[in-house]
Amino acid sequence: MHDDLAASRETMVERQLIARGIAEPCILNAMRRVPREAFLSPDLRAWAYADAALPIEAGQTITQPFMVARMLQAARLKPEDRVLEIGTGSGYAAAVLAEMVARVDTVERHPQLAESAMDRLRALGYDNVNVHTADGTLGLPARAPFDAIVATASGPGVPPAWSAQLEIGGRIVMPVGPDPDHQRLIRLTRDSSTTYHEEMLDLVRFVPLIGAQGWGDMAR
Ligand code: SAH
Repeated sequence: MHDDLAASRETMVERQLIARGIAEPCILNAMRRVPREAFLSPDLRAWAYADAALPIEAGQTITQPFMVARMLQAARLKPEDRVLEIGTGSGYAAAVLAEMVARVDTVERHPQLAESAMDRLRALGYDNVNVHTADGTLGLPARAPFDAIVATASGPGVPPAWSAQLEIGGRIVMPVGPDPDHQRLIRLTRDSSTTYHEEMLDLVRFVPLIGAQGWGDMAR
């Protein structure tokens, strides 16, 4: 079983990532190392390298492997970066980030998801990741500034708190838009203390970002 999953992981990297234009060795190697099966419930482990998002607890999803790679590619990460992830979920994307950058803080609004993600990350030996239970639409002021902020849930727009907590030269990558089925994946780059520019990258589909600077609690 273990060997089968290791072989499936390599096939995932070749067919889902390299074949679709992910070329950065740091991303490919990180995704070769992180066991996605460890972030799934036992009954779903056989599907760990399927080309799909899969259900996790609290009605949420673990992001599709290609979309994790695409977002991290868009974030233009460097090894010394301090990264904030919003939407810890299973903890899978946080583990991939932890393989690539110096420091990861990840925020999850569901306490039970945050707790199990923290347990998995610790068991796998990731000591450069901290999981926080909070409303991530407010960023994480105590740990700011960040070189990159990556959100795996889609909001109505970029929360002002995130733009304010971004280092100059830093990048925010997030899905934006009101349609539950199609959102725009955007990158917002901070060019100076007062100026930013935004690029539209792809059409994507994510679960909603729910919070003070996201969709209100009653919105969906
Ligand atoms: N990166 C995750 C994907 C999880 S799906 C993984 O690899 O498994 C997105 C997550 O965002 C969900 O767990 C959801 O609960 C969380 N979320 C939604 N709104 C949030 C908010 N305001 N703050 C923190 N987390 C939020």
